[in-house]
Order: sequence, then C-alpha cells, then structure tokens
Amino acid sequence: MFSRLLQLFKKSPSEPKIGRIELCSLPDTVFCPVCKSKTAYLDSVDFNKSCEEARGFYLPPSGVKIQYFLCASCWFCFAPEIAAWNVKQFEEHIYDEAYELIDPDYRSIRPLANADMLHKTFGSAKIRHLDYGGGSGLLSGALKARSWDSYSYDPFTNPDLNVVELGKFDLITAFEVFEHVPNVDALFADLQKLVKPDAIILFSTLLSDGEISQEKPLTWWYASPRNGHISLFSQASLKQCLRQQGFNFASFSAGLHVAYRQIPAWSAHLFQSR
Ligand SMILES: [Zn+2]
Repeated sequence: MFSRLLQLFKKSPSEPKIGRIELCSLPDTVFCPVCKSKTAYLDSVDFNKSCEEARGFYLPPSGVKIQYFLCASCWFCFAPEIAAWNVKQFEEHIYDEAYELIDPDYRSIRPLANADMLHKTFGSAKIRHLDYGGGSGLLSGALKARSWDSYSYDPFTNPDLNVVELGKFDLITAFEVFEHVPNVDALFADLQKLVKPDAIILFSTLLSDGEISQEKPLTWWYASPRNGHISLFSQASLKQCLRQQGFNFASFSAGLHVAYRQIPAWSAHLFQSR
C-alpha cells in the first residue's frame, strides 16, 4: 500500500498532482469557535502530517505549514486556515484520490465494523437511524441489508441540503466525523434539528485531553491536516458544544461517546454497562 501511496506523491514539481494549497491570512486575534474566547497560536505542522505516522509511515513534507490554535478556556484546538476552505478546496487537497491511502480503514473496514457493532447493540430495536457524515453510505447500506430503517447523510457531499428535510431520528451515529468539521456551530445545529426528543447520538472522535498543551509541540498523531483533522475536541469543549444544544454527554472511552436528552428504553442497556 505504501508504495502506491508514494507513487501518488512522488510526482515531479513541474507536474503537481494538486493545485497550490492556498491559506487565508488570519486576523491578529483568533477566537475560539466553541466558547468564543481569545485563543493563542499553538504550533504549525506540515500539511502532509498524516495519521499513518502513528503506524510509522511518513509522507514527504509538502512545505506548507498549517497553524493550529488552542483555546485556554475550553481547550479546543483547531486549524482556522483550513476551516476557511470551501468544499472544492477540501476535495482537491484532502478528500482526493489519495485520501483512502492515508486513512486505509475509511472506505470499508471501519463502516462495516461499526455496522456490526450497531447491529449487535441495537439490532432488536425498532428505530430510525441516520449515519451523519456517512461518506458513501456503506455503513447505512449494511444495516439496511439487516432490515434497519437506516439513512446516510454527508454534509461534504450534499452541502446544500437543509437537514430538516431528512426528518427526525432515534439514533444518529457519527464515526470519525467531528474532528473533520470546519464549522462546529453548524455541526451541532444540524444534530439538534435531526434528533427526536428521546434520541441518542453515538459518535467517535478522539479527545485531546493529556495530548495537547501550550507547553509542548503539536506532535499528537491525531492532529493531522492531511487527514482533515482540523477540529480537535477536549472533553470540556465537546461538553460545551453539546450542552449549548441541550444534550447530556457521556464517554465510553477517549474515543467513543454518547449524547442524549432523555435516555430511550431501547438504549438503556448501553448506559447500564458503562
Ligand atoms: Zn474555547
């Protein structure tokens, strides 16, 4: 796999695979998208820093430095230069033909494993399910094949849809989505519109607590612009976003979480086992 990856990246400089990476200039003060406090510059990393570095594979440096900022009030860490991109820029520089190679589980391994987990956990419940940020819809398709009432929606592939048209759901899942989101207000406003009063939102994103601080360089493997990881949540920032929309929040691990208002009977076993 890595040899194919290198072929994609080893084009001569005169034949660039992608257009030039353009970054906006930032204001003197950058405010936190979550709590609106003033933030401080944390560190810059090369655009080609990818999550595969955790497995010992390094892309050639792009030469483009991406700035990350850290909020000292809620500890949200983010990359405002990329968050300002339009959909075309994300498609050109991040969600391109090489994306699958720096997130090899993205296309099928992760969606199918998550579909299995959901079916084992909630398979007997009569619920309406939405996989938010579901990409090609593989997870939802695997559940439909098991007679689930399941839908998939991805804001990147259908940015003009008013989510209200999708209706309301008992269960929303969002696996490895939150860290990709350029506009956190829009994400949580979407989720609020999509839930029934007694719905749950089951989602994965790796919390940054203990990994990111002003006292150390941003070497955390999950802080990877090439993967589109531009919104890195601490527990406090995640809790704040969810509370603003009236959700309670609990974590099963550093990476798997649930948000809810009232716990529906069909999911009670999930909370008892915590
Ligand atoms: Zn903040």
